[in-house]
Formats: sequence, C-alpha cells, structure tokens
Amino acid sequence: MPCRCLLGLCQYDTNKLVRIQSVRLGSLKWCLNAGILLVICMMMLWNRKYQEFDLVVSSVTSKVKGVAHTQLPGVGDVVWDGVDYSGPSQDKNSFFVVTNVIVTKNQKQGKCAEVPLIGRLCRTDKDCEKGAWDPLSHGIQTGTCLKFDLLRKTCEVSAWCPIEAKTKPPRPALLAAAENFTVLIKNNIRFPAFNFIRRNILPSMSGSYLSSCQRSRDPLCPIFRLGDVVRDSGEKFKDMAVEGGVIGILIRWDCNLDRFMERCLPSYAFRRLDEKESNKTLYPGLNFRYAKYSTVNGVEERTLYKAFGIRFDVMVYGQAGKFSFIQLIIYIGSTVSYYALTTMLLDWLIGTSCYSAEVGQNYSERKVEALQDTQKCILCVSYVDDRNLRLVKRSLKKSLQTIKPKSVQPRQENIGHLKAALSLLQPMSPSPSPSDAHTPSDSNPKPPSPSWCKCERCHCNTSTLPHEELCCRHSDGACITSSSVFEELVLSRALLEAVLLYRDPFTTPDTSALRHCAYRQYISWRFGVPTGDSHPVIPLCCVGRIREMYPKPHGAFSGFRPIGTASMQACANGEK
Ligand code: ZN
Ligand code: ZN
Repeated sequence: MPCRCLLGLCQYDTNKLVRIQSVRLGSLKWCLNAGILLVICMMMLWNRKYQEFDLVVSSVTSKVKGVAHTQLPGVGDVVWDGVDYSGPSQDKNSFFVVTNVIVTKNQKQGKCAEVPLIGRLCRTDKDCEKGAWDPLSHGIQTGTCLKFDLLRKTCEVSAWCPIEAKTKPPRPALLAAAENFTVLIKNNIRFPAFNFIRRNILPSMSGSYLSSCQRSRDPLCPIFRLGDVVRDSGEKFKDMAVEGGVIGILIRWDCNLDRFMERCLPSYAFRRLDEKESNKTLYPGLNFRYAKYSTVNGVEERTLYKAFGIRFDVMVYGQAGKFSFIQLIIYIGSTVSYYALTTMLLDWLIGTSCYSAEVGQNYSERKVEALQDTQKCILCVSYVDDRNLRLVKRSLKKSLQTIKPKSVQPRQENIGHLKAALSLLQPMSPSPSPSDAHTPSDSNPKPPSPSWCKCERCHCNTSTLPHEELCCRHSDGACITSSSVFEELVLSRALLEAVLLYRDPFTTPDTSALRHCAYRQYISWRFGVPTGDSHPVIPLCCVGRIREMYPKPHGAFSGFRPIGTASMQACANGEK
C-alpha cells in the first residue's frame, strides 16, 4: 500500500476525451463559443467589470432664496423672506420650506377654557378635576367649568391663552408662492480609494452662469426651482403645500476615472418620500410648532406658529471605477465556466433525436464505458432450445438452471467465427471424428442425472456448486453433446489443432490446450458476439463431455470461474 501511495504522487490523471470529426458539430461549437465570448465582452464593457470600485463620501449644504407676500388672518400683510420660511433649524442633509401656517397671536400665561375637541365637555364644576391633564390637553385643569362658546362648556385650564383653536390648515396654502423659490445645492464628494475630489458646481460654471441657469435647459444646473422639484417628483405643489410633506433629492455620481474615458458628473432625480394620500393617512403631511416671544408692559407674550411645509432631503449615492488588472483577471476567471455550456448543449443535442440517432448511439458507446461492480457477477446462459441469451445474477444458493433471468437478449451470430469454422469443417467432415471411440455409451455407467437436468447427460462425479448447475436445455429433449455438430465444432481434434496452429504455427498442442480450445469453440459457437460484461457459462453436460475427451492427466478440474465474454478470446473458461 505505501508503495501505491508513493506512486500516486508521481502520476497525473487526466480526463479521456472523445473527438468527433464532424463539420456540423465543429462549426456549431465555434459559433456557440463565439456567442459566449461576445456576451462576456459585452457584460465586461457594460458593467465595467475590469474596474475596481469605491463608494462616494459626500457633504451637502443648501441655500433657499425667494420672497413671498401673505395675508395672514388676524395678523395682516406679512412679507416672508428666507429667514422666516426656512424654519428654526436645518438638518444635516436637508432643508425645510414653510408653505402654510396657523398663527395664534398674543398668548399669555393665564386661565381659559380648553378647546372642545381635546378637552372634555362639562356641565358643572363637578365634571372637572383639579390638576388633571392628558398628553393632548393644552394645560392643567383648574376644576372649574367654563363657557367656551354659546352652546358648549369646557373645563378651564391654566395654559398659554388664548389657546390655538384651529386644527385644520388653511386652503389654499398661505405660502403657495413658495413654488417660485429657488435652492442652490452644494455637494462636495470624495472617493477615498482614488483620492478623487469633485463638487456639483463644476469648475466651468461661472457666477453669471449660475445666476441664469435653469434645470429645464441644463440638467447639471445646481439651482432648482422648488415648483420644478415637486413637479418632477410627480406631485402638485399647490396640493402638497397645504399639509406639507417630504421630498427626496437624489444625487447620483457614477464616475469612470480611467484616463481616456474620464467622466464624473452628477445626475439628479426627485421622489416623494412620505405618504401621498393625505385622506387615507392618519397623520398626513409635515408640521411643527414654534413661537416668537416678546415682552409687553413687563408681561411675557408669544406668537405661536403651527408651520406646515415641505422638507427636502438630499441623498447622495454612487461609485467610481478605475481599471484594475486584478479585477480583470478575476472576471475572466469567473467567466471560463460559461464555456461548459457549449459542451452541455452539444452533448444534449447529440443525445436527442434532433441529431442523427446513429451518431448519438455511436458517441455514447464510445464515451460511456459501463463497468460492473465485482460483487454483481452477471452470468450469461445459452440454451440449445432457445434463440436468446439469458443474463442471470450469480447466486450462491440457487441452482443456475432454476434462477429467473435478469434480462433476455437476442443472440448475435459471430460471423467471423462462423465462416472460419465452416471453412475448417469442410475438408474434415468426411474424416471420422476421433471422438467416435469415446461415445458416452462406451463409457462406464454414469451416476443418475440431477433433478435440474433436462437432457439427462449432466452427470458429475463430484459435488457441484449452484452456479455450475446448468443444463444445455431449458425444456426436456436431446442433449447438445449428442449432435454431430457438437462433435465436429467442439470436440474434433483436427479442428482444434488447426485453430491452435492458426494462432501459433509452431505449437505442439497438448491435451490441456485442446481442452481450453474446445471451451472457446463452444463459447464462440453458442454465445456469438460477446454481450457486455457478462460471463458465459458452459452447461455441465458439455463440460463433462469435453473433459472426457481431453482429460487432465492428474488431479481434479478447478471448476467454473467467471471470465468476461470480452476477454474470453484470450482466456479459457477458467480451468487451469
Ligand atoms: Zn442436462
Ligand atoms: Zn446436455
């Protein structure tokens, strides 16, 4: 074993291939390979598979500009500029524009009746509880029941009075003119892996260009009209301005940093990010409250604003790619397996009836070599009263004669053997066979034939093994050894000597060689062309007759040992 392991180190195993000489298959193979190569190249160029990529790192600042005039109920004419409508604070990558507002002026700390929608309605002071409050109330109850208007009474609260009474935003929006506001978005990006820096205000853009550029004419213009942004996201500014909402401004950088194809420009897209259907949503839009404080006659007052507006979130994403030899090698390596598709397709095509059935059969016979596990020994049986060969699984218990066959195959005549045998027979036929002196009738009395024998000549002096128990017949009748053809084809000494001399002209055939040659003659005659990997079995009557004719000088016969039909030309039936 160690020797075999060492030998394994010094050898290389490769696959065996079958080459089919065919113009059709050859051209089909090259067409398929060319198609695969084309697809691979297109995918490589389209997806830039030869590049290594890095993701964008970015920062965003924005500046909204514009002025609007409003007529606020209870306040009067107000002009809004950038400071007013941008709201009190800005997030990192977003900006806010107020589009609608509910103003409650001159609120002071005091006591007043709660708004009916939130506070509980009451009839007497007993309905109110001193010190009670809930998350929706505007203040803390004092325990008194007050008249809110002509019909309703509510609990009194200590709060900022008067309490904000309006809950629904005004329609149309008070600052609908905000759609004409413009925003300048400044976006600086960086690809750390390539140490590449760029901004969306390109070096070629001058101050005069920026003051006059419009997105409709130049998609790279970094100044946006808010009405256009909302329209491009598929919304109407007038509707959205009433309750507010969230719009996403997406800046995509898809950069190619290769020297001859350098291109790194932003592209802009717009989406609404919040729930669009305001009547189906529980808390639609976007609003928040803020207040402006003042002191009047030493008393602190505030003006409360409930602001509705649109928040614009700027989102930057993208990648940059640069040629990388390693990425190219990895990509090429990953595509090699696609060429196996050609083999699969051609193999499938040959296997189907689309192609020539003959070629398919021939190809599969050459390509696939069937090997039997040594455990499964298949024996081949030929009866003189049956045209077919029977393939039987070897059994150690049942007599071979009685086992049911695994399959039945038609016997194919070995034409070469037939011709040779006939040509050898003709000049010999008149000469008396030397076996005449050894006819079974002349021999000593035989033991009775066993129960499985149908020809009554399967005698054996020693005990037989189950796989040796085979008769020349399947049903009762005359034994094949009693036929004259058997005498001439299998037993004839002149014929056997001629066969042996044909193989080796200088041999001197002895009894053992003649016996083995007789077995071979019988197998070639009765089994014809070898079938697969089965082992032909000679019936016991024939074995007995051959042994009788060409006995071994000393000692017993070794009995049957399976030898493949394919190799039987080289070996005898297994007897030594
Ligand atoms: Zn028999
Ligand atoms: Zn027989």
